[in-house]
Amino acid sequence: MKDKLYIDGQWVDGGAADEIRNKYTGETIGVLPLARPTDVDRAIAAAQRAATIMANMPAYRRAEILHATAQSLRARREEVARVIAQEVGKGLKYARGEVDRAAGTFTFAAEEAKRIHGETVPLDAIPAGADHFGFWTRRPLGVIGAITPFNFPLNLVAHKVAPALAAGNSIVLKPAELTPLAAVLLCEILQGAGLPGGAINLVHGPGPDVGAPIVRDPRVAKITFTGSRAVGRIILQTAGIKKVTLELGNTAPVIVCEDADLDAAAERAALGAYYNSGQVCISVQRVYAAPSVQQDFCARFLGAAAKLGVGDPLLETTDVGPMISEQEAIRIDDWVREAKEQGATVLMGGTRERGLYSPTVLTDVDHHMKVVKDEAFAPVCNLMVADSFEQALARADDTDNGLQAAVFTRDIGRVFHAMKALNFGGLVINDTPSFRADHMPYGGNRQSGLGREGLRFAIEDMTNIQMVSIRLGS
Ligand code: NAD
Repeated sequence: MKDKLYIDGQWVDGGAADEIRNKYTGETIGVLPLARPTDVDRAIAAAQRAATIMANMPAYRRAEILHATAQSLRARREEVARVIAQEVGKGLKYARGEVDRAAGTFTFAAEEAKRIHGETVPLDAIPAGADHFGFWTRRPLGVIGAITPFNFPLNLVAHKVAPALAAGNSIVLKPAELTPLAAVLLCEILQGAGLPGGAINLVHGPGPDVGAPIVRDPRVAKITFTGSRAVGRIILQTAGIKKVTLELGNTAPVIVCEDADLDAAAERAALGAYYNSGQVCISVQRVYAAPSVQQDFCARFLGAAAKLGVGDPLLETTDVGPMISEQEAIRIDDWVREAKEQGATVLMGGTRERGLYSPTVLTDVDHHMKVVKDEAFAPVCNLMVADSFEQALARADDTDNGLQAAVFTRDIGRVFHAMKALNFGGLVINDTPSFRADHMPYGGNRQSGLGREGLRFAIEDMTNIQMVSIRLGS
């Protein structure tokens, strides 16, 4: 693997060397130079030059490059998955799943690249337009700044890079500083797939040093960001006049009705709560079960959670690896301790061994507790009871987040009721809020973000509409 920044089609040195570690063993698995201000500036200038090349590249050629990228990801699946498993601490089987999804994301982007189009406008609908012919089309924006989080270091990068290139833009990418290696591999693959130099540039380092200058730069036409609400807010305040997409956090709720398939609900909810150590923006954090099924659901959930493998991410049996850092494990340990002091009961887990936090089930919790109210982003799930479906909906919606929510029921009437009552960008029926297909519209309401990803929807946001009016007869 390359140990350099990727700028203007070249692998180049930067500032001080930064060691990237295996989050389970602490061993160094790669080294990358930190980008200096001059490196960020060169990356943006290179992207600006390449933006013209990308804007003039025909759709079939953009599609070919994206298809070749998907193929190469599939061919290098095991190598890329092992890098992801180690740099994040994610179970290898889930890392393989992430590579498969990223290949799918590039394939969808290749297909979408061929159907970016506009429509005609009947300008003769007003007298002044009687002799005009009108149509609109979509044009690329130019340079896109992409800033990504640690938890899906390949597929969340793919969700920005693939639509940006499909639409004929260029990119400056700043991956999360603790997990940049999958993005380095992706740049290698894009280079091998024939992407022109400068069309993607990778800079590495802490957000305030390397991300913030990209956000502020007037040469950058759009920022597409996935990460925490706190950083999202800073980006919105400092970006100036440019488009901004924000994919932020959540406290995903699940409602289990009395007519639910309890085995399926418990198994899916436990996996949705704990895989990737709960470090997923649509991880199951709050469950509201009907009183008549609460005990049964709880027993099944505990059974399903107890079956999950915990430990070394490189073992085939591991579902729950370490958290991204020991500080994060200490943080969630403090939150759980605080909840216990406020009356919560720990039904399972609640223990920490360095960065490894055991799958934890809490009950006797309420909405004033941090572990319910704020995004846990950890392997912790709160099991609650709701007296009625109306109460469950009201509690599930009692949050300023709004990414995805789920209801387990066989009653179609309840599905339509939930659609109106839940102010979330995505509603999942009979599966957990952790369900995502990469081509579906995906994004948060309220404080969970701005805009939507999913290839077609991201492409819309990564293009400007250009209206053309032609006066006839002159
Ligand atoms: P984070 O906000 O700490 O970091 C995300 C990225 O922002 C990193 O690359 C970081 O270096 C950069 N950054 C930090 N400060 C910056 C600044 N001042 N200017 C520019 N960039 C800056 O998030 P994280 O800890 O990596 O990820 C966890 C968060 O991401 C959670 O809140 C989670 O819910 C959210 N997330 C959301 C989605 C989604 O699709 N909605 C998906 C995954 C993760």
